[in-house]
Amino acid sequence: MRKTVIAGNWKMNMTPKAAGEFIHALAPMVKGKDKCDVVLCVPFVDIAVAAEAAKGTNIKIGAQNVHFEAKGAFTGEIAADMLLEAGAEYVIIGHSERRQYFGETDETVNLRTKAALAAGLKVILCLGEVKEQRLSGITDEVVAMQTKLDLAGISEEQLKNVIIAYEPVWAIGTGLTATPEQADETCGVIRKTVAAIYSKKAADEITIQYGGSMNDGNAAELLAKANVDGGLIGGASLKTDKFTAIVDAANA
Ligand code: PEP
Repeated sequence: MRKTVIAGNWKMNMTPKAAGEFIHALAPMVKGKDKCDVVLCVPFVDIAVAAEAAKGTNIKIGAQNVHFEAKGAFTGEIAADMLLEAGAEYVIIGHSERRQYFGETDETVNLRTKAALAAGLKVILCLGEVKEQRLSGITDEVVAMQTKLDLAGISEEQLKNVIIAYEPVWAIGTGLTATPEQADETCGVIRKTVAAIYSKKAADEITIQYGGSMNDGNAAELLAKANVDGGLIGGASLKTDKFTAIVDAANA
């Protein structure tokens, strides 16, 4: 009923040359594994090379951020049409590293999401609780609120181009993973929130990924959960064999 999406987030890794070589090596390894979509979200300067290398393969290319204005005096930022023209089809918005280190808030995440969707990009919208919130038992409230704020003003039609990545902040890049039960339960809370904002149909159709130290060893049991429709993968997306093993788990 809904698409499984395995997306890599390269973060600030790989030069354009390395990106091209990686994709040429990865393409035959994931060829024909069509039970999931395969996406690589790469640094801005890698997009054109990555898109060229991915031509004729089942690998799609995404960016890791986008600004909400179409153009202007926003030094260091990038506009949606620039990403599209370079060859990006997807963009990650609201990653916890953006929220933590670059002042991203639910308000700016919402603005960026609206601009990306209006321009024709598909959005991988990241949200999730920090460790203190999980420990104090307010995870459900936190992710429900983020879902509402981040999707404010986005229509049900536009939502078809949104993937939500549930990423508990305490699990990102730490080697700690949510248990499959925790991932399933919290993705379920997000799905229920989508149902309340939009409709049961929208909730049934939206892809909700888990992200947070997903790797070749734990992907199968996470992806087996009913509410987990794929993964957003950082560290393990930088190695062709590890990333392929996750794609394989999604195709089992
Ligand atoms: C991420 O960057 O979204 C992520 C989940 O990273 P890692 O897999 O390294 O925890």
